[in-house]
This record gives sequence, structure tokens and C-alpha cells, in this order.
Amino acid sequence: MAKLNIQDVLFEEVGGVCPYCKCKMIKSWEREVYVLTGNGMIHVPITKEEYRHFMEIDHIDGVHKNNVFDNLIAACKLCNIRKSNKKIQKNKQELLLSL
Ligand SMILES: [Zn+2]
Repeated sequence: MAKLNIQDVLFEEVGGVCPYCKCKMIKSWEREVYVLTGNGMIHVPITKEEYRHFMEIDHIDGVHKNNVFDNLIAACKLCNIRKSNKKIQKNKQELLLSL
């Protein structure tokens, strides 16, 4: 049986789209930093643009200890940072319906 990764589950739940800014998110955990080419391993640096779209796990109520599934949603890194600065509170159903 395939191992279920919470990041993948949350990514699929929103269809890979950030519920706040609607950008297409990138699975940072699958991003290859080294790629094997005919000339050996090459380093592929992460761009600023990519970094902003990396998926993170957002705690909807802003409480980081509250790890129940309904309090977790995928969001891009930029929105996660923005959210920490501004209090945006919605519930998961609202966020999913907004997609
Ligand atoms: Zn976003």
C-alpha cells in the first residue's frame, strides 16, 4: 500500500491551487534540486518565483498546535507569510468552496 503523505493529501484537496490567491502551487518536497544529465549531476537552483509558490500547510485558525484535519489547508508560501501578518480567518468549507 502506498504511504499517504499529509502534504499530498492537502495538495489534492485543493487541486494544487492556493485557496487565497488561486496560484498554482509547487510540491516543494518533490522539487528536484539535482538533475542527472548526460554531463553528470547538475544543480538546478530554486528561483524566487518558484519559492513563492511552494506549498505549505496553513493552520486556518492560526493556532499551530491545532493539527486537526479541518484546521489544515494547503496554501502557497507567500500567502502563508501574508496570513501570519494579517489575521485572515475563514473555515475550511468556505476556503474549499471559494476554489
Ligand atoms: Zn497563495
